[in-house]
Amino acid sequence: MGKPLCPAACAPPGTYPPARTSPGDDMMWHCHGANYAELVSNLQNRGILTSNDAAKAMSKVDRKFFVPDSNKAYNDAPQVIGYRATISAPHMHSYCLSLLADHAKPGASVLDVGSGSGYLTAVFGLMVGETGRVVGVEHIPELVERSIAAIKKTPAGSLMDHGKIVVRVADGKLGNAEGAPYDCIHVGAAAAELPEALVQQLKPGGRMVIPVGTDNQNLVIIDKLPDGTVEKTRKMVVRYVPLL
Ligand code: SAH
Repeated sequence: MGKPLCPAACAPPGTYPPARTSPGDDMMWHCHGANYAELVSNLQNRGILTSNDAAKAMSKVDRKFFVPDSNKAYNDAPQVIGYRATISAPHMHSYCLSLLADHAKPGASVLDVGSGSGYLTAVFGLMVGETGRVVGVEHIPELVERSIAAIKKTPAGSLMDHGKIVVRVADGKLGNAEGAPYDCIHVGAAAAELPEALVQQLKPGGRMVIPVGTDNQNLVIIDKLPDGTVEKTRKMVVRYVPLL
């Protein structure tokens, strides 16, 4: 397992910034930009946003529309969005997008569980394009409403207008059976245990990225091989809000 990229990537409110464990760790969450383009390019230059497809889509979805405090939109830190939720730090979004990019190609189907601010839902939408589809699942109705309004302010808005991006109020642990199976599943909140429904809703050949654990959480990659075998790879220690 790799070293922690950032233990507070999607930290519960009040827990950021985290204690530093080694001087090198500082680098990981210091991609702040004076503007959005600079933030994205810092994430690329630091080797966190390694997928060009993800970078291209990300650069079109300005983070300022998804955060309550737009003065801090380009800080590489999580931000409280209300209802005990946070929008994850840009480096964490970048890292997860890069892990999933090969499974979120044009035409792919994506499930974003715990979609919160809607930022990643919008980015996935631009990655899969009009031949693909993205379902965001979030259990707080107010956040769903707010995320839809935010997505509509970005170039992903037209995908939403055409039903290619939808955000639903539901329990994310159950996934979204209606649109299953998915090429790509992103989970933005930590599950105490790997939800079986989500594994079932993954296509053979598909990939899920999910934080698993309670006090000690790991970011885990779940690859469903073409023969249906499930492979789990622990990537690093993280700290997300819980999947309730
Ligand atoms: N990727 C999102 C993460 C938001 S924080 C972003 O960066 O904006 C995690 C989100 O998961 C919160 O919005 C929280 O309300 C939601 N959540 C927690 N448990 C959930 C559940 N069982 N079903 C759906 N959403 C859940």
